Amino acid sequence: MNRVVLMYHAIVGDSHHLDSIPQEDHPYAVDTTRLADHLALFSDYKVLITFDDGDAGWYLEALPILEKFSVKALFFVTPRLIGTPGYCDWEGLSALSAAGHEIGAHGLTHQFLPDLDEVTCRNELVESKSIIERRLNTKVRSMSFPGGRYGRRELRLAQAAGYEVCYTSVPGRVQGNEFCRPRVAVRADSSVLWLARVVSGDRPLWVKMKLSYLIKRIVKSVLGNRGYHELYRFFRG
Ligand SMILES: [Zn+2]
Repeated sequence: MNRVVLMYHAIVGDSHHLDSIPQEDHPYAVDTTRLADHLALFSDYKVLITFDDGDAGWYLEALPILEKFSVKALFFVTPRLIGTPGYCDWEGLSALSAAGHEIGAHGLTHQFLPDLDEVTCRNELVESKSIIERRLNTKVRSMSFPGGRYGRRELRLAQAAGYEVCYTSVPGRVQGNEFCRPRVAVRADSSVLWLARVVSGDRPLWVKMKLSYLIKRIVKSVLGNRGYHELYRFFRG
């Protein structure tokens, strides 16, 4: 059992540059040197590596590094983003799947599920799963919530759609075989030292991570998802 699950997004390097990634995603775009340093560290710990969204750097940059370190990862894709500028195409995702990596779903359109009515929300969960299964000829067992947004209804609908595991963006450690599992977000500036403290269970760091998540969550509940997003964009400049 991997007790710590990490969440990456875009991977940038010589073949996939930062300028092909939306500005607001830059804080989460990890470069290849840093990814390699992280993977070298994980050989000492039980860590599951996940990626969200479908960035083209998964195939162009991350795949060879994962192969080098013999790490199998879990990639969450949003079917409507596949093949659009800066994102993987189905061929790239097939290569990831053929290399033994697991492909999961990340909504159909990347809309935040709690903002949707029940029929649309169910459709996001069901359609994303079935499109990926059909296109890659593989079973989709897992999903991650777009924007980390979810509630009781989304968990119920995800279970009904046939997912076996859901991943959130709530910092925490996996306790056992729970249906809904926490993850720790990795950012562009996440150092090896910081990650070593995360995976080794450094208590002050975990308290800080959980507190900062809680504060963000309170701000989101006051402003709503859209208001929070606007605030984030404002401070990002
Ligand atoms: Zn996402």
